Amino acid sequence: MFVSLEQSHQENTIMTRMVAHDLKNPVWGIQSLARSLLKRKEYAEEVKQSLELIANASSNSLTLINDLLNDSETSKSFSKEMVDMQKLLHYCILLLQTKADEKKQHIAIESEYVFISINRQKIWRVISNIVSNAIKFSPGGSSINVHLENKENTVLLTVKDNGIGIPPELKDKIFFNDPGVSRAGTAGEESHALGLVITRMIVQEHNGKIWFESEEGKGSIFYVELPRVTEEGETFADAEQTEMRNTG
Ligand code: ADP
Repeated sequence: MFVSLEQSHQENTIMTRMVAHDLKNPVWGIQSLARSLLKRKEYAEEVKQSLELIANASSNSLTLINDLLNDSETSKSFSKEMVDMQKLLHYCILLLQTKADEKKQHIAIESEYVFISINRQKIWRVISNIVSNAIKFSPGGSSINVHLENKENTVLLTVKDNGIGIPPELKDKIFFNDPGVSRAGTAGEESHALGLVITRMIVQEHNGKIWFESEEGKGSIFYVELPRVTEEGETFADAEQTEMRNTG
């Protein structure tokens, strides 16, 4: 049977929305349960922290599901707010810590205070995708270094691993949903070659840049650069000048 490209795209979209629809209720259930358990006072700090992580992770997942249901990946509902990115980074990594612990990997974070205008959920996905790849493609017991710093007009996130690296023939393909780039992780983790496509799209939506350096068998460094802008879309330097003009 002949199925046109457009028809198969439409079917894919319907399937995606059906899956999103069916996931919504259970994820909402997890979030409500975690939130209602959090209202009790009797927990040890560690249990409370885990419940908060579950509540936040399910809330982020619900936003993602709603995005898929409303098909807003490509539409205008791209809202930004001023976000403490250092805090967001620590929170993302805390969520991935169990995965790293299972492989006895150490994640070292070095970060300064970064406060920029971004879409919180989307940048959470960017950090999550890159750090979980570092975990997935590194051997047990290795170290991963995450660095976040303010540059003059940008913010730079760097994730360095000592893993399997990316062979030269895959280097041009990993951001473009090429099935040939999918490799299993060092502990047999699955790969669908989607994470970096989504990551690249989100970074571009933020007018940022993403790139990497990698040596096969030695490891990779992924870089994400985002404009350091205020809520009004001005760079911090421009905002300072406007302030000076207004006060002086
Ligand atoms: P997934 O959606 O499965 O996480 P990605 O799009 O994130 O897949 O990554 C695509 C492919 O790029 C991976 O299967 C792997 O071959 C390569 N890759 C991505 N990150 C790394 C890394 N840190 N080290 C080695 N290979 C990587």
